[in-house]
Amino acid sequence: MKPPRDDCRGKKRHHNRAGALIHMRKLQEPGMHPYKCPQCRKWHIGHTNRADGIQSRLNRLIGPDPKTLPQH
Ligand SMILES: [Zn+2]
Repeated sequence: MKPPRDDCRGKKRHHNRAGALIHMRKLQEPGMHPYKCPQCRKWHIGHTNRADGIQSRLNRLIGPDPKTLPQH
């Protein structure tokens, strides 16, 4: 049996959405959102998609890629 796709081990758990939102603001990363985990029934912070997560990690390390910045 495969492990569940949405593995939440290692993720910070919050008892409610407000806690997740506070955590999200501290991270100050774009493309993140709080969601209720169907597995542990707690709230996590997630990236809207995997590419965003990788890019925001790169942004912190080497600075944002101008090509990926949203158009204002
Ligand atoms: Zn979870």
